[in-house]
Amino acid sequence: MSEYALEIRNLKKTYDNNVALKGIDLLIKKGEFYGFLGPNGAGKTTTINIITGLTNKTSGSVKVFGIDVVDDYRRARRLVGLSPQEPNLDFFFPADTVLNLQGGYFGMSSSERKTRTEELLEYFGLTEHRKKPFRKLSGGLKRRLLIARAMMHKPKLLILDEPTAGVDVELRKKIWDSMLELRENGTTILLTTHYIEEAEELCDKIAIINNGKIIRDGDKNKLMEEIQYQEIEVTPASPVTEIPESLKEYKCRITKSKKLVFSLDKKKQSISRLLEALVNSSIEVADLKTKSGKLEDLFLRLTGSTATAS
Ligand code: ADP
Repeated sequence: MSEYALEIRNLKKTYDNNVALKGIDLLIKKGEFYGFLGPNGAGKTTTINIITGLTNKTSGSVKVFGIDVVDDYRRARRLVGLSPQEPNLDFFFPADTVLNLQGGYFGMSSSERKTRTEELLEYFGLTEHRKKPFRKLSGGLKRRLLIARAMMHKPKLLILDEPTAGVDVELRKKIWDSMLELRENGTTILLTTHYIEEAEELCDKIAIINNGKIIRDGDKNKLMEEIQYQEIEVTPASPVTEIPESLKEYKCRITKSKKLVFSLDKKKQSISRLLEALVNSSIEVADLKTKSGKLEDLFLRLTGSTATAS
Protein backbone atom coordinates (compact mmCIF):
# COMPACT_ATOMS: atom_id res chain seq x y z
CA MET A 1 0.00 0.00 0.00
CA SER A 2 1.05 3.58 -0.63
CA GLU A 3 2.78 5.54 2.13
CA TYR A 4 0.42 8.38 1.32
CA ALA A 5 -3.08 8.87 2.58
CA LEU A 6 -3.58 11.42 -0.19
CA GLU A 7 -1.52 11.75 -3.33
CA ILE A 8 -2.44 14.58 -5.68
CA ARG A 9 -0.30 14.98 -8.78
CA ASN A 10 -0.47 17.76 -11.33
CA LEU A 11 -4.18 18.21 -10.76
CA LYS A 12 -5.89 20.62 -13.12
CA LYS A 13 -9.45 21.80 -13.31
CA THR A 14 -11.04 24.20 -15.72
CA TYR A 15 -14.71 25.18 -15.42
CA ASP A 16 -15.75 26.41 -18.86
CA ASN A 17 -13.10 29.08 -19.39
CA ASN A 18 -12.23 29.50 -15.73
CA VAL A 19 -9.00 27.76 -14.66
CA ALA A 20 -9.58 26.82 -11.01
CA LEU A 21 -6.59 24.47 -10.49
CA LYS A 22 -3.39 25.01 -12.45
CA GLY A 23 -1.66 21.70 -11.73
CA ILE A 24 -1.40 21.18 -7.99
CA ASP A 25 0.67 18.55 -6.16
CA LEU A 26 -0.11 17.60 -2.60
CA LEU A 27 1.24 14.59 -0.74
CA ILE A 28 -0.17 13.77 2.67
CA LYS A 29 1.36 10.92 4.65
CA LYS A 30 -0.72 8.56 6.75
CA GLY A 31 -1.53 10.02 10.14
CA GLU A 32 -0.66 13.61 9.28
CA PHE A 33 -2.84 16.56 10.22
CA TYR A 34 -2.70 18.86 7.23
CA GLY A 35 -3.99 22.41 7.01
CA PHE A 36 -5.19 23.63 3.61
CA LEU A 37 -5.36 27.40 3.56
CA GLY A 38 -6.08 29.97 0.94
CA PRO A 39 -8.25 33.01 0.21
CA ASN A 40 -11.71 32.73 -1.30
CA GLY A 41 -11.68 31.34 -4.80
CA ALA A 42 -8.20 29.82 -4.38
CA GLY A 43 -9.35 26.30 -5.32
CA LYS A 44 -9.82 24.51 -1.98
CA THR A 45 -13.40 23.35 -2.50
CA THR A 46 -12.65 22.29 -6.06
CA THR A 47 -9.77 20.14 -4.76
CA ILE A 48 -11.94 18.60 -2.03
CA ASN A 49 -14.76 17.98 -4.47
CA ILE A 50 -12.42 16.17 -6.84
CA ILE A 51 -11.07 13.99 -3.99
CA THR A 52 -14.60 13.02 -2.99
CA GLY A 53 -15.93 12.56 -6.53
CA LEU A 54 -18.29 15.54 -6.51
CA THR A 55 -16.41 17.30 -9.32
CA ASN A 56 -14.60 15.82 -12.31
CA LYS A 57 -10.95 16.74 -12.75
CA THR A 58 -9.68 18.05 -16.08
CA SER A 59 -6.35 16.21 -15.78
CA GLY A 60 -3.83 14.89 -13.26
CA SER A 61 -4.37 12.20 -10.66
CA VAL A 62 -5.72 11.81 -7.14
CA LYS A 63 -5.22 8.70 -5.03
CA VAL A 64 -6.31 7.94 -1.50
CA PHE A 65 -4.23 5.27 0.18
CA GLY A 66 -2.96 4.33 -3.27
CA ILE A 67 -6.44 3.98 -4.80
CA ASP A 68 -7.35 6.18 -7.75
CA VAL A 69 -10.46 8.24 -6.98
CA VAL A 70 -11.73 8.00 -10.55
CA ASP A 71 -10.70 4.50 -11.66
CA ASP A 72 -11.78 2.88 -8.42
CA TYR A 73 -14.23 5.43 -7.07
CA ARG A 74 -16.17 3.24 -4.65
CA ARG A 75 -13.15 1.78 -2.89
CA ALA A 76 -11.49 5.17 -2.68
CA ARG A 77 -14.65 6.92 -1.44
CA ARG A 78 -15.08 4.44 1.41
CA LEU A 79 -11.75 5.54 2.83
CA VAL A 80 -12.76 9.20 2.97
CA GLY A 81 -15.08 11.07 5.31
CA LEU A 82 -16.16 14.59 4.39
CA SER A 83 -17.59 17.25 6.64
CA PRO A 84 -18.67 19.86 4.08
CA GLN A 85 -18.76 23.59 4.55
CA GLU A 86 -22.41 23.78 3.53
CA PRO A 87 -24.70 21.15 5.09
CA ASN A 88 -25.90 18.83 2.30
CA LEU A 89 -28.66 16.92 4.05
CA ASP A 90 -32.37 16.98 4.75
CA PHE A 91 -32.88 19.65 7.41
CA PHE A 92 -35.93 17.81 8.75
CA PHE A 93 -34.06 14.61 9.62
CA PRO A 94 -33.25 14.10 13.30
CA ALA A 95 -29.61 13.72 14.33
CA ASP A 96 -29.70 9.94 14.81
CA THR A 97 -31.38 9.42 11.42
CA VAL A 98 -28.69 11.52 9.72
CA LEU A 99 -26.03 9.17 11.09
CA ASN A 100 -27.99 6.01 10.41
CA LEU A 101 -28.60 6.99 6.77
CA GLN A 102 -24.95 7.79 6.25
CA GLY A 103 -24.04 4.30 7.53
CA GLY A 104 -26.53 2.85 5.06
CA TYR A 105 -24.96 4.84 2.24
CA PHE A 106 -21.64 3.14 2.99
CA GLY A 107 -23.18 -0.33 3.23
CA MET A 108 -22.94 -0.82 7.01
CA SER A 109 -25.24 -3.46 8.50
CA SER A 110 -28.18 -2.39 10.65
CA SER A 111 -26.52 -3.50 13.90
CA GLU A 112 -23.22 -1.82 12.94
CA ARG A 113 -25.13 1.38 12.20
CA LYS A 114 -26.93 1.24 15.53
CA THR A 115 -23.75 0.77 17.56
CA ARG A 116 -21.82 3.38 15.65
CA THR A 117 -24.66 5.92 15.87
CA GLU A 118 -24.77 5.55 19.67
CA GLU A 119 -20.98 5.85 19.89
CA LEU A 120 -20.89 9.04 17.84
CA LEU A 121 -23.88 10.70 19.51
CA GLU A 122 -22.18 10.12 22.84
CA TYR A 123 -18.74 11.21 21.64
CA PHE A 124 -20.02 14.50 20.23
CA GLY A 125 -22.39 15.26 23.11
CA LEU A 126 -25.43 14.84 20.84
CA THR A 127 -27.26 12.08 22.72
CA GLU A 128 -29.79 14.41 24.32
CA HIS A 129 -30.41 16.11 20.97
CA ARG A 130 -30.75 12.90 18.97
CA LYS A 131 -34.41 13.44 18.08
CA LYS A 132 -34.08 17.09 17.12
CA PRO A 133 -34.31 17.79 13.40
CA PHE A 134 -31.09 19.17 11.96
CA ARG A 135 -32.62 22.60 11.38
CA LYS A 136 -33.41 22.97 15.10
CA LEU A 137 -29.88 22.25 16.29
CA SER A 138 -27.66 25.18 17.31
CA GLY A 139 -24.79 26.15 14.96
CA GLY A 140 -22.26 24.30 17.11
CA LEU A 141 -24.33 21.12 17.31
CA LYS A 142 -24.90 21.20 13.54
CA ARG A 143 -21.15 21.34 13.01
CA ARG A 144 -20.60 18.48 15.42
CA LEU A 145 -23.23 16.38 13.69
CA LEU A 146 -21.60 17.00 10.30
CA ILE A 147 -18.26 15.81 11.68
CA ALA A 148 -19.93 12.80 13.33
CA ARG A 149 -21.60 11.98 10.01
CA ALA A 150 -18.25 12.20 8.22
CA MET A 151 -16.85 9.67 10.70
CA MET A 152 -19.77 7.27 10.61
CA HIS A 153 -18.08 4.68 8.37
CA LYS A 154 -14.72 5.04 10.18
CA PRO A 155 -12.85 6.70 7.29
CA LYS A 156 -9.07 6.69 7.34
CA LEU A 157 -8.90 10.13 5.75
CA LEU A 158 -11.12 12.80 7.20
CA ILE A 159 -11.67 16.00 5.26
CA LEU A 160 -13.00 18.86 7.33
CA ASP A 161 -14.05 21.89 5.32
CA GLU A 162 -14.40 24.81 7.73
CA PRO A 163 -15.52 22.61 10.64
CA THR A 164 -15.61 25.46 13.14
CA ALA A 165 -17.15 28.19 10.98
CA GLY A 166 -19.65 30.17 13.02
CA VAL A 167 -18.99 28.21 16.20
CA ASP A 168 -18.35 30.02 19.49
CA VAL A 169 -14.95 29.85 21.16
CA GLU A 170 -15.90 27.23 23.75
CA LEU A 171 -17.36 24.85 21.18
CA ARG A 172 -14.47 25.46 18.86
CA LYS A 173 -12.14 24.22 21.58
CA LYS A 174 -14.26 21.10 21.99
CA ILE A 175 -14.15 20.43 18.27
CA TRP A 176 -10.37 20.98 18.34
CA ASP A 177 -10.09 18.39 21.11
CA SER A 178 -12.08 15.86 19.13
CA MET A 179 -9.94 16.51 16.03
CA LEU A 180 -6.77 15.97 18.06
CA GLU A 181 -8.19 12.78 19.53
CA LEU A 182 -9.02 11.49 16.06
CA ARG A 183 -5.48 12.21 14.98
CA GLU A 184 -4.18 10.37 18.07
CA ASN A 185 -6.20 7.38 16.92
CA GLY A 186 -4.40 7.37 13.57
CA THR A 187 -6.89 9.24 11.35
CA THR A 188 -5.31 11.39 8.67
CA ILE A 189 -6.94 14.82 8.58
CA LEU A 190 -7.15 17.48 5.91
CA LEU A 191 -8.53 20.70 7.35
CA THR A 192 -9.55 23.90 5.63
CA THR A 193 -10.18 26.74 7.97
CA HIS A 194 -11.01 30.40 8.17
CA TYR A 195 -9.10 30.68 11.40
CA ILE A 196 -5.39 30.66 10.83
CA GLU A 197 -4.74 30.22 14.55
CA GLU A 198 -6.65 26.95 14.23
CA ALA A 199 -4.20 25.64 11.64
CA GLU A 200 -1.36 26.94 13.76
CA GLU A 201 -2.66 25.12 16.83
CA LEU A 202 -3.64 21.80 15.26
CA CYS A 203 -1.76 21.03 12.08
CA ASP A 204 1.61 19.32 11.55
CA LYS A 205 1.84 20.52 7.98
CA ILE A 206 0.31 23.29 5.96
CA ALA A 207 -0.29 23.90 2.27
CA ILE A 208 -1.18 27.39 1.13
CA ILE A 209 -3.09 27.63 -2.14
CA ASN A 210 -3.65 30.81 -4.07
CA ASN A 211 -5.14 31.33 -7.46
CA GLY A 212 -5.16 27.60 -8.31
CA LYS A 213 -1.53 27.00 -7.32
CA ILE A 214 0.07 25.70 -4.14
CA ILE A 215 2.47 28.44 -3.17
CA ARG A 216 3.81 26.95 0.07
CA ASP A 217 3.69 23.44 1.41
CA GLY A 218 5.44 21.84 4.30
CA ASP A 219 6.16 21.53 7.96
CA LYS A 220 4.25 24.11 9.98
CA ASN A 221 7.19 24.95 12.22
CA LYS A 222 9.45 25.50 9.21
CA LEU A 223 6.87 27.85 7.73
CA MET A 224 6.74 29.65 11.04
CA GLU A 225 10.50 30.12 10.90
CA GLU A 226 9.95 32.20 7.80
CA ILE A 227 8.35 34.75 10.04
CA GLN A 228 11.53 36.30 11.20
CA TYR A 229 10.27 39.05 13.35
CA GLN A 230 9.16 39.47 16.90
CA GLU A 231 7.02 42.28 18.24
CA ILE A 232 8.00 43.90 21.52
CA GLU A 233 5.56 46.22 23.21
CA VAL A 234 7.21 48.57 25.66
CA THR A 235 5.31 50.70 28.17
CA PRO A 236 7.58 53.60 29.10
CA ALA A 237 7.52 54.85 32.70
CA SER A 238 6.94 58.37 31.39
CA PRO A 239 5.31 59.25 28.04
CA VAL A 240 7.47 59.32 24.91
CA THR A 241 6.20 61.46 22.05
CA GLU A 242 9.01 60.97 19.58
CA ILE A 243 11.30 58.05 18.87
CA PRO A 244 14.84 59.09 19.88
CA GLU A 245 17.58 59.10 17.27
CA SER A 246 19.46 56.30 19.09
CA LEU A 247 16.52 53.93 18.42
CA LYS A 248 16.21 54.78 14.72
CA GLU A 249 17.75 51.45 13.67
CA TYR A 250 14.62 49.77 15.08
CA LYS A 251 11.27 49.59 13.33
CA CYS A 252 9.04 51.26 15.89
CA ARG A 253 5.65 52.88 16.21
CA ILE A 254 3.95 54.74 19.04
CA THR A 255 0.42 53.57 19.82
CA LYS A 256 -2.52 55.76 20.90
CA SER A 257 -1.98 54.59 24.47
CA LYS A 258 1.63 55.83 24.19
CA LYS A 259 3.22 52.40 24.06
CA LEU A 260 6.23 51.75 21.86
CA VAL A 261 5.89 48.75 19.58
CA PHE A 262 9.16 47.45 18.10
CA SER A 263 9.39 44.89 15.29
CA LEU A 264 12.65 43.04 15.75
CA ASP A 265 14.25 41.20 12.90
CA LYS A 266 15.14 37.97 14.73
CA LYS A 267 18.18 37.35 12.52
CA LYS A 268 19.85 40.64 13.36
CA GLN A 269 18.28 42.12 16.46
CA SER A 270 17.75 40.88 20.00
CA ILE A 271 15.63 41.94 22.96
CA SER A 272 18.71 42.44 25.16
CA ARG A 273 20.24 44.83 22.61
CA LEU A 274 16.96 46.70 22.40
CA LEU A 275 16.78 47.03 26.19
CA GLU A 276 20.32 48.38 26.19
CA ALA A 277 19.39 50.90 23.51
CA LEU A 278 16.31 51.96 25.53
CA VAL A 279 18.48 52.51 28.62
CA ASN A 280 20.96 54.53 26.53
CA SER A 281 18.05 56.63 25.29
CA SER A 282 17.00 57.29 28.92
CA ILE A 283 13.68 55.58 28.40
CA GLU A 284 12.66 53.80 31.57
CA VAL A 285 10.72 50.62 30.89
CA ALA A 286 7.65 50.10 33.10
CA ASP A 287 6.45 47.00 31.28
CA LEU A 288 7.41 44.85 28.32
CA LYS A 289 5.46 42.25 26.34
CA THR A 290 6.66 40.04 23.49
CA LYS A 291 4.67 38.61 20.62
CA SER A 292 6.04 36.24 17.97
CA GLY A 293 5.09 36.41 14.31
CA LYS A 294 1.96 34.48 13.45
CA LEU A 295 1.19 32.16 10.60
CA GLU A 296 -1.41 34.71 9.60
CA ASP A 297 1.35 37.20 8.79
CA LEU A 298 3.02 34.70 6.51
CA PHE A 299 -0.28 33.92 4.87
CA LEU A 300 -1.01 37.56 4.24
CA ARG A 301 2.46 38.15 2.89
CA LEU A 302 2.28 35.20 0.53
CA THR A 303 -1.20 35.68 -0.80
CA GLY A 304 -1.41 39.43 -0.51
CA SER A 305 -4.88 38.73 0.80
CA THR A 306 -6.68 40.85 3.30
CA ALA A 307 -8.29 39.54 6.48
CA THR A 308 -8.39 35.77 6.80
CA ALA A 309 -8.32 32.68 4.66
CA SER A 310 -11.53 30.86 3.99
P1 ADP B 1 -12.24 28.09 -2.58
O1 ADP B 1 -12.91 26.85 -2.06
O2 ADP B 1 -10.78 28.14 -2.26
O3 ADP B 1 -12.96 29.34 -2.19
P2 ADP B 1 -13.22 27.21 -5.17
O4 ADP B 1 -12.62 25.88 -5.42
O5 ADP B 1 -14.64 27.26 -4.71
O6 ADP B 1 -12.28 28.03 -4.18
O7 ADP B 1 -13.13 28.09 -6.50
C1 ADP B 1 -11.99 28.14 -7.34
C2 ADP B 1 -12.33 28.88 -8.62
O8 ADP B 1 -13.24 28.09 -9.38
C3 ADP B 1 -13.02 30.21 -8.39
O9 ADP B 1 -12.60 31.09 -9.41
C4 ADP B 1 -14.50 29.87 -8.55
O10 ADP B 1 -15.21 30.99 -9.02
C5 ADP B 1 -14.44 28.79 -9.61
N1 ADP B 1 -15.55 27.82 -9.50
C6 ADP B 1 -15.81 27.03 -8.43
N2 ADP B 1 -16.88 26.24 -8.66
C7 ADP B 1 -17.31 26.55 -9.92
C8 ADP B 1 -18.37 26.07 -10.75
N3 ADP B 1 -19.19 25.12 -10.35
N4 ADP B 1 -18.49 26.63 -11.99
C9 ADP B 1 -17.64 27.59 -12.42
N5 ADP B 1 -16.63 28.08 -11.70
C10 ADP B 1 -16.45 27.57 -10.47
